[in-house]
Amino acid sequence: MPAKNMDELVALCKRRGFIFQSGDIYGGLQGVYDFGPLGVELKNNIKQSWWESMVYENENIEGLDSSILTNPLILKYSGHEDTFSDPMVDCKSCQKRFRADQVPPECKEEDLTEPRQFNLMFKTNVGPIDDGDNFAYLRPETAQQIFTNFKNIIDSTSKTLPFGIAQTGKAFRNEITPRNFIFRVREFEQMELEYFVTPGDDEEAHSSWVQKRLDWWVNQGVPMKSIQLYDVPKDELAHYSKKTIDIMYEFPHGVEELEGIANRTDFDLGSHSKKQSELNINASVTKNKDSNSKLAIKDENGGWVVPFVIEPSAGVERGFLAILNESFTVEKLSDGKERIVLKLKPHLAPIKIAVIPLKKNNAEMVAYAKKIIKKLQALKIGRVVLENTGNIGKSYRKHDEIGTPVCITVDFESLDDKSVTLRDRDSMEQSRVDSNSLNEIVTKKIKL
Ligand code: ATP
Repeated sequence: MPAKNMDELVALCKRRGFIFQSGDIYGGLQGVYDFGPLGVELKNNIKQSWWESMVYENENIEGLDSSILTNPLILKYSGHEDTFSDPMVDCKSCQKRFRADQVPPECKEEDLTEPRQFNLMFKTNVGPIDDGDNFAYLRPETAQQIFTNFKNIIDSTSKTLPFGIAQTGKAFRNEITPRNFIFRVREFEQMELEYFVTPGDDEEAHSSWVQKRLDWWVNQGVPMKSIQLYDVPKDELAHYSKKTIDIMYEFPHGVEELEGIANRTDFDLGSHSKKQSELNINASVTKNKDSNSKLAIKDENGGWVVPFVIEPSAGVERGFLAILNESFTVEKLSDGKERIVLKLKPHLAPIKIAVIPLKKNNAEMVAYAKKIIKKLQALKIGRVVLENTGNIGKSYRKHDEIGTPVCITVDFESLDDKSVTLRDRDSMEQSRVDSNSLNEIVTKKIKL
């Protein structure tokens, strides 16, 4: 059963070192979080799983890691300078600023200013002179530099349609009201694929990506029963989109977007191209006077084709929250006590195996435990750690709570006959196994 409320997740994240408020010791910075020792592992594992499913499992998808600092022309022609904004109102009574659609009931209508557009992009000065002219944006999404690198990637990899470019990385949005823990933040990470297809093949590719993305979420432990699909109605679609399906998840605070899958037509490549009039662009694009490249490919008759783009775009933090929420389980035990257990899929677990000497600081036992750890680390399945607290019950509880799938206990018998106790997180079953067979057993359990 998922967590009852966000507070339980926030408390667990702080207590166990998943997530901390950024700049905590100075009062924090709103809408910005730091990922602690366990958080960084879970986050990396989510991104790795996404990367594998995109780049390693599809021969026609390549990866990219583009810069965060972004040439303003990119965000001019993408439309972000003009349209990436929210209408805002100021309340003259409480002196606060709100999104026009999110004014709290306490503020009276007559105290509100007329709505004004507020751009969500962060700017930063570039170079030694801070005169307001020499600036770059911190990218508000990872997608745009995938488009601007379209030609570089085609030329260097000889890809033909259909093919995709995948990227994960930071994005920055000056959200007016960051809220709901890591759901809406000002600095976050995205996992975005831009999948280029021949116009006409776009609708089929779009539905196929919706299905692939759902399958992926289910494999990460987010079941279909917690997901709803939102077919964005025409009047709510972004100006470039022909169709968008949002994957909505039942977060502790309500049902909201986890990932959007948009058919962006030829808007992006068309917008960033030179000589647009030669390209038969479908979308309505601003005339580009600055690009030095045609982001199009030649068809067999020598004519230009601007590919359509299907974009599955997911937020790492929102994925993190959904996965944490789904895996968070409170179980009643036979002795009447409760345990919290994170039933994370093994490939996402921050720590894969904890090796626990039954007696704290017993030199022989600790040495044997370390020997086992060395062997298991060589399997390269992720973190394998020593848990040397001497309290076996507490150690199991801790590792249940952080989602460690397997604990291995070394005791006096182990020193004689090389047997160890293997404990399974979910069933809590314990079995005695020969330590020489550990490699095989844990590989099976972790690489599910
Ligand atoms: P919303 O309507 O919730 O503001 P959006 O439609 O603006 O989201 P997109 O621009 O489609 O979001 O971005 C793609 C994905 O990036 C979203 O599905 C979400 O997972 C993630 N994302 C967007 N904004 C934020 C944010 N402020 N904090 C965390 N994740 C975000």
